[in-house]
Amino acid sequence: MTLKRAVLRFVAFVSVRSSNPELLRAQFSALSRLIPLLYFVLVANAWVLGIAFIHHAPIWLSVYGPLVLTGVCLLRVVLWWRKRHVAVTDQRVVSELRRANVLAGVLGAASSAWALSLFPYGDAYAQSYVAFVLIVSALGTMFCLAHLCSAALAVATVGGGFFICFFLATENPIFVAMTVNVLLVIGVSVVVILTQYRDFVRMVNASTEAMSREREQSRLLRMIDDMPVAVMTVEPDTLNINYANETSKRLIRRIEHLLPLKADDLLGTCIDVFHRHPQHQRRILADPANLPHNARIKLGPEVLDLKVSAVTENDGAYIGPMLTWALVTKEVESEQRILQMAHYDTLTGLPNRATFYEELERRLSTPGNRVGLLFVDLDGFKLVNDTRGHRIGDTLLTQVASRLRAACNTPATMVGRLGGDEFAVLVPHDNAEETEALARRVIEALGVPYDLDYDRSIQIGASIGMALAPRHGETGEALLSRADMALYAAKAAGKGVSRMFMPEMETRIQDRIRLEGKLRATLETREGLFVFYQPIVAINGDVVTAREALVRWYHPQRGWISPGEFVPVAEQSGLIDQLGAFVLDAACREAAGWADGARVAVNVSASQLGKGTLVCAVQDALAVSGLMPGRLEIEVMETALLGDEQEIIAELNSLRSFGVRVALDDFGTGYSSLAHLRAFPFDKIKIDGSFVRDAVERPDCAAVVQAVATLGRRLGVSTVAEGVETQAHLDRVREEGCSEVQGYLFSRPQPTDRDAPMVEELNRAEARKRQARQNQVPA
Ligand code: C2E
Ligand code: MG
Ligand code: MG
Repeated sequence: MTLKRAVLRFVAFVSVRSSNPELLRAQFSALSRLIPLLYFVLVANAWVLGIAFIHHAPIWLSVYGPLVLTGVCLLRVVLWWRKRHVAVTDQRVVSELRRANVLAGVLGAASSAWALSLFPYGDAYAQSYVAFVLIVSALGTMFCLAHLCSAALAVATVGGGFFICFFLATENPIFVAMTVNVLLVIGVSVVVILTQYRDFVRMVNASTEAMSREREQSRLLRMIDDMPVAVMTVEPDTLNINYANETSKRLIRRIEHLLPLKADDLLGTCIDVFHRHPQHQRRILADPANLPHNARIKLGPEVLDLKVSAVTENDGAYIGPMLTWALVTKEVESEQRILQMAHYDTLTGLPNRATFYEELERRLSTPGNRVGLLFVDLDGFKLVNDTRGHRIGDTLLTQVASRLRAACNTPATMVGRLGGDEFAVLVPHDNAEETEALARRVIEALGVPYDLDYDRSIQIGASIGMALAPRHGETGEALLSRADMALYAAKAAGKGVSRMFMPEMETRIQDRIRLEGKLRATLETREGLFVFYQPIVAINGDVVTAREALVRWYHPQRGWISPGEFVPVAEQSGLIDQLGAFVLDAACREAAGWADGARVAVNVSASQLGKGTLVCAVQDALAVSGLMPGRLEIEVMETALLGDEQEIIAELNSLRSFGVRVALDDFGTGYSSLAHLRAFPFDKIKIDGSFVRDAVERPDCAAVVQAVATLGRRLGVSTVAEGVETQAHLDRVREEGCSEVQGYLFSRPQPTDRDAPMVEELNRAEARKRQARQNQVPA
């Protein structure tokens, strides 16, 4: 077993194994250098031996033998010489070494056999000389082949074998003794060769390892050099840079103008040049316990992100700090931008709702702090945004923001944009007079016309609700909601005004909520809901062309409530569709019975349009009542056209397509855009009552009434003057060219004959209640 293992190990040791290509190459290269020497020894020894026997042995032995050997050796040397510059592959190395192994055995055997064949022709001296040549040739060859141990052993085995067998067979005591000596010498030589070979293998392996480590190191260094991260190492004592990768140099080149050094002089420079206060950095780097350490360094407009880590030996000994760093200017900019976007409104740059609210809460949570809050809402912004486009709307908001900033530039006053056209101002006191004065200044500043477009300036207004802390609320939420209530009151008071929160406002909001509940219930039962009709007459006053259906609501507690109050509640609560359908059905049914064949005009809110439900509701009402579509007129306000214009126009067009007429209501109160008159072919334009009344006093209003009337005539559209209360109004609008009139001068809105007794009864009840209340009031 052990013998087998030993043989296997021997075979492995001497065989040419391709598993270690570096060793094989080293063997090949060493052998290549020694092969000419080897052949020289062989050939020279053969010739000297052959010449020594030239007169004793036959010529074919003494001359031809060396000649053949010389030929073979020359052939090998020439072949070797020709291929010495050709790049050898691993495979070729292996095959060459294997060939050398075989050749060593074959040549050893052939040359030994040739030398021994001369033996019988010589005397004792010559025979001893043959033995001598044999042994020196074998030893010389073995040493020449020392790097290819297998070949050297083959020579030793073959040459030694021939020698021993031959000379032992002579039974000459001298030759037997010589054999023993040769055995010893060959044995020792084999040991020496094996030892040298092992050293050679070790040396080759060590150098291979060193080379691969060196390759690995230079690869690593190249990788670090090419890394997208800048790396520098510094001397721990002096903090002088002793290594900087290419990225470091490239980055330094970019910021060279900010530093007192050049990228090419980086090595040997102290890292203090990067810091304004190097002592602090030095203190940190002095102690490896502080590492890793991160820092951001500002260098002019650039920002450096620096990470310092400790480089240690395998045993943990501190070698020095390593700095990895990057230029993060762009990242820092984006970070700041994101921060800005999260806290500030992108359009105006003002603090956004969240930031404003946070600041409000912060101030309120500071004990003893007093705060004033102004809730600013723009009047007419939506109109501008919808009609002039969002670009103009955005520019307008930016200008509003800068006017607000200018009007509120006192210390600790904060302006924020809460969203859309809502802004807020936070003041550091709860002085009502000062807050109201500021509100007036803001309203005045925002009311000055804005020069946004090349063709005309734009004017909007602002309403402001105010609340003071701690008087009106102690939390941000309470204060905001109260300022919002005050704003609602300001809007209700006619816009362009400011209102300070009052507890009654809260009651009003609650009233509104109660009103909504009551309206919802009323719409279920329809008790107390009526439709009154007001005639619209031709300008000469003799023909009623139409009657406008106007909804009325009698509230059991509050009496008659104006549609001006409950229609907006219905619009905001979504009850308007139900209310609208009630009026539409009632009006169509009623008009179907009118003997004079007058049309009926039904008001439709903007919030009923654009939902795709109106056309069906109208068709249903016409179908149920049997009213001819041509006798129904739908009145829409100009603002209804400002929503989703295309859809609304399509809806109105489809109404017109089956004969229903469409009138533009309250022209003059809204945007008064002639563009709207052209956008849709209205059948009638109703000029608002306030406008009509102003026309008597103000020539400019009269001119507009005239312009609309003229435009109506040109378009073949009738123009109705609303709110005609006096003969003067009638004369004026007749003069300006209106074709029809509506107003108290002719008739107030009246209930139907069917409703009249009930309305009468309710009015009487109302009068009694009024009387009772008056009686309760002490004289
Ligand atoms: P409108 O459509 O412009 O209706 C005309 C308003 O002017 C009516 O007020 C009418 O009573 C009033 N009026 C008529 N002649 C005169 C006058 O000579 N002098 C004055 N000072 N006023 C006059 P009312 O009925 O209070 O309606 C107010 C508004 O409520 C209506 O304005 C309309 O926009 C809305 N409204 C009324 N009924 C409905 C309805 O059924 N549906 C919808 N969506 N809105 C309605
Ligand atoms: Mg109307
Ligand atoms: Mg009107």
